[in-house]
Amino acid sequence: MTATTSTPTDFDVRRIRADFPLLARRVHGKPLVYLDNANTSQKPLAVIEAMNTHYREHNANVSRAVHQLGEEATAAYEGTRDKLARFINADSRDELILTSGTTQSTNLVAYSYALPRLQAGDTILTSVMEHHANIVPWQLVAARSGATVKAAPISERGELIVEQYIDLLTPEVKLACVTHVSNVLGTVNPVREIAKACRKRGIPLLVDGSQAVPHRPVDVQALGCDFYAFTGHKMLAPTGTGALWAKAEHLEAMPPFFGGGEMIREVRFSATTFAAPPHKFEAGTPNIAGFVGMSAAIDYYQSLGFEAIQAWEQQLLAYATERLHEIPGLRIIGEAAEKEPVISFLIDGAQATDLATLLDLEGVAVRSGHHCAHPLMQFYGVPATLRASLAFYNTLEEMDAFVAALLKVRRLLR
Ligand code: PMP
Repeated sequence: MTATTSTPTDFDVRRIRADFPLLARRVHGKPLVYLDNANTSQKPLAVIEAMNTHYREHNANVSRAVHQLGEEATAAYEGTRDKLARFINADSRDELILTSGTTQSTNLVAYSYALPRLQAGDTILTSVMEHHANIVPWQLVAARSGATVKAAPISERGELIVEQYIDLLTPEVKLACVTHVSNVLGTVNPVREIAKACRKRGIPLLVDGSQAVPHRPVDVQALGCDFYAFTGHKMLAPTGTGALWAKAEHLEAMPPFFGGGEMIREVRFSATTFAAPPHKFEAGTPNIAGFVGMSAAIDYYQSLGFEAIQAWEQQLLAYATERLHEIPGLRIIGEAAEKEPVISFLIDGAQATDLATLLDLEGVAVRSGHHCAHPLMQFYGVPATLRASLAFYNTLEEMDAFVAALLKVRRLLR
C-alpha cells in the first residue's frame, strides 16, 4: 500500500504545513521529513510572530512596573496562565505554576512536596516506562530521606500492568507517579483508573503529561490526579516553557522551592513571608516571550481542534505502522492497544544510530538512542531504539518517503 491509494481526509494538511516555515526546508539536498516531534515540535508562524511582536512592541518585565509596557507584558504573561488553565480545565488559574518545562515541574514537586514529607521506609511509586524526568528527581529526594523508589512493571507489548501498579499502592507510598503517554512506546496509560485507585488509598498522583498535551484534550479534573506536569516545546510553544498544575490544597501546603524576587510578600531578616500560589513558586524573571508564544500555540491547537488532530494523527500512525511492517527484520517496540503517534523500532543486523545517521542524509529526521528512558531499554534488553514520532502536520507521503529511505539505508548497511 502507498499513500496514493489511501483515501484523503478533510484535514487540510497542505494548508496547515504552510503555517510552519521550517517544514519547507531541505536537508542534505532532500525535502525535510521531520519525524522527531516527541523530542520537540516545530513552531507555527503565529508563535514565532507572537514572540517577535512581544520583543518589538511590548517588551518589559512582568509584575514590577506600573508603566504601560510593564502592564502589557504582565497582561500577556498572566493571560497565558488563564488560557492554560482553560486548556487543561483547571479549577483555578492559581493552580498553574509556569515553569521551564516538565523537568522543572517534577523537580518542584520532588523538593517542595515530597522531600518535606518523606521519611525512612517511605516509597515513591513510578513505572518502568517513565522518562528520566519522572524517575531521577524521586531518586534524589529518596536518597536524602531514606525513602525508596519503586517501579511498576509493564508487559512485553508496552502496556502498564495496571493491577500490579495498584497492588504496589501500599501505605508506605507517599506519592505515585505515571506518564500519561510514553515518549518511547506511544502507550496511553489509563490515568483515570490509576487516579481512582490512588484516591481510594489517599495517595497523591503525579502525571507526566509531556507527550499527551500535544495530541489529546486534557482535563485534569476529569483525570482526577493531583499534579500534572508538561512542557511547552513539544506542543508548538517555544523551548523553556512548561507548567505544573497542582490541586490548590497541595500548593497552599508546599513551601517555596526557589527563593528570590516576585515570590515574597515581605522580606525581613527576622522572617520572610511568601506570596500566595502560584507566585510563591515563580521566583525571578520568567520566560516572558516564551509564554507569549505559548499563548499563540494554544490558539493554534484550538483553531484546529483536537478531534480533527486526533483523527489525522491516528490515520498517520496506522498507515506508518502498516508500511513499517513491510520491512523484513523490523520489530516495533510498543504495541499497546491505545497509542499516540510514536513508533519505536529496531531492524535486525543494523544499529539504530547508524540507521538514524543515514536517514538524516535522506532528509529524514528521527531519533535514535535511549530516549531518556534507560529502565525501559533495560526491560527490552536493548541499548537504543529508532523512534519516529509524528505530528498533525505530517503527511502520508512523508510516511512513504520515510519507508523508502529506510529500505534504502537498510540495504547500505548489509
Ligand atoms: N517526560 C516525557 C515523557 C518526555 O517525553 C520529556 C521530554 N523528552 C520530558 C518528560 C522532559 O521534558 P523537558 O525536557 O521539556 O523538561
